[in-house]
Amino acid sequence: MIAPMDALDLLRRYSLQPSKGLGQNFLVADWVYERILEASGLDREAIVLEIGPGLGTLTRRLAARAGRVVAVELDRRLIPILEEALAGCENVTIIQGDILALDPVALLCERLHIPPDKLAYYVVANLPYYITSHALRHLLSARVRPRQMTLLVQREVAERITAKPGAMSLLAVSVQVFGAPELVCRVPPSAFVPRPKVSSAVLAVPLYPQPLVAEGRLEAFFAVVRAGFGQKRKQLLNSLAVGLGMEKAAVEKALHAAGIDPSRRAQALSIEEWARLTAALERP
Ligand code: SAM
Repeated sequence: MIAPMDALDLLRRYSLQPSKGLGQNFLVADWVYERILEASGLDREAIVLEIGPGLGTLTRRLAARAGRVVAVELDRRLIPILEEALAGCENVTIIQGDILALDPVALLCERLHIPPDKLAYYVVANLPYYITSHALRHLLSARVRPRQMTLLVQREVAERITAKPGAMSLLAVSVQVFGAPELVCRVPPSAFVPRPKVSSAVLAVPLYPQPLVAEGRLEAFFAVVRAGFGQKRKQLLNSLAVGLGMEKAAVEKALHAAGIDPSRRAQALSIEEWARLTAALERP
């Protein structure tokens, strides 16, 4: 276990200051690593993509539990530290790069010599908070989606993602159409060095074998959902008419056909209702 002082010592030894801009809050609480690993669903065969290995503390634990770990770190300064920390871990590959600019499937298939149709992988990360939404979008639109994502994220974001109808958001719908997110535990700022200003949470998102909306209809589904949330406080009838550039009468007809009261608001709808509405809007 890396103690808080060890993390700081390590950084000092390499004359490094943690970069705020890269969201470098290093995890130093043992119990949080345990909760992440327990929730991760990994077995000895599992292939793991880790985003932002930092000082390699989570990476080492993942390597002990999984078959292969591919860890992508943006900060070049951390690569020598990672190479030193993970020297004994033969099942770990460290890649310097920006996860948002890389195709995770191509990356894993190339490194592990696996064809995409045979690839099954897990994502585990203490995410830099500033890329959370972008990283989720990136991973959920990958050619092969992960089996599960287990992520340390800002607590408020974990709560938004796990929201129920009544408090839904575009982010919640975007995740819940692919899997069943669960807030595993809350994590206080004291679990990190340096301490972040906000609380965090471990979020587990096991993905469904197939999304709740058929692959070929996801684009239309998201166009409707985005339009619905475009003017959040407005009633669906208005936000959809504006967002989709449709006549109110046509939107109203589709809402009725889908069994949805036109005066409801976007945050009230379930995934099933959005799917029904998409189908109704597609019908002439
Ligand atoms: N995994 C370590 C831990 O738990 O202590 C570090 C987590 S720290 C919150 C986030 C890490 O992600 C940092 O090491 C940072 O340099 C790296 N990072 C930031 N943006 C990144 C990106 N776009 N792609 C890959 N890594 C990134």
